[in-house]
Amino acid sequence: MGSGGRDGDGDIGGGAGLAALDGRIAGCRACPRLVEWREEVARTKRAAFAGEEYWGRPVPGFGPADASLLIVGLAPAAHGANRTGRMFTGDRSGDVLYAALHDVGLASRGTAVARDDGLELYGVRITSPVHCAPPANKPTPGERDTCRPWLVRELELLRPSLRAVVVLGAFGWQAALPALAEAGWDVPRPRPVFGHGTHVPLDGLDLFGCFHVSQRNTFTGRLTPAMLREVLRTAARTAGLGVTS
Ligand code: SF4
Repeated sequence: MGSGGRDGDGDIGGGAGLAALDGRIAGCRACPRLVEWREEVARTKRAAFAGEEYWGRPVPGFGPADASLLIVGLAPAAHGANRTGRMFTGDRSGDVLYAALHDVGLASRGTAVARDDGLELYGVRITSPVHCAPPANKPTPGERDTCRPWLVRELELLRPSLRAVVVLGAFGWQAALPALAEAGWDVPRPRPVFGHGTHVPLDGLDLFGCFHVSQRNTFTGRLTPAMLREVLRTAARTAGLGVTS
């Protein structure tokens, strides 16, 4: 797992709660390739954002510490969350996700542009199994495994309130299942296979699969706005959250 040198204190389990965990994640430097990439992107920038200061660090989860629904993505986008410092904020994937969350009543607004834009999530938190932007949006299996303890700890801290998880895409699914098992849920073997609309009841937690909100999926119609809203509504209802129809 490579926890030694993962962050300043090297202690995944230390600190009191989710805010402390988020702070430790933001200081992590455990994956040399990703540290180099996230910082290089932050230095060189995209022309459209040349005047902005990029975050250029690991992006922690976003949303309340007592969330009953967790959305698990893949990894921050180089010029999205790696720029803004907040999950799915400042890129096309996030435009799709936050519009849907707002439509079903889980977000205070349908746009996400900056960490200080005032956006609030209601009962839902968003995280990813890899917290640093990877080249070509492709973390290696080794990087996924190195980052897993952060997700395990986040799940452990959310456990008292957590009732449902929506995983966006097969990569997130493969990362989330062992993390859920490590965090104490009884995940069946053989592991359930990812699919859009897959629903796996665990002990006290309902797990849902959803195609990722990537442009590749949304531009081609593989994931339509209606499909995304349907999964979010179902998961939110299962988690006991009020949703708009
Ligand atoms: S991907 Fe995860 S483990 Fe690797 S440097 Fe980033 S926060 Fe640390």
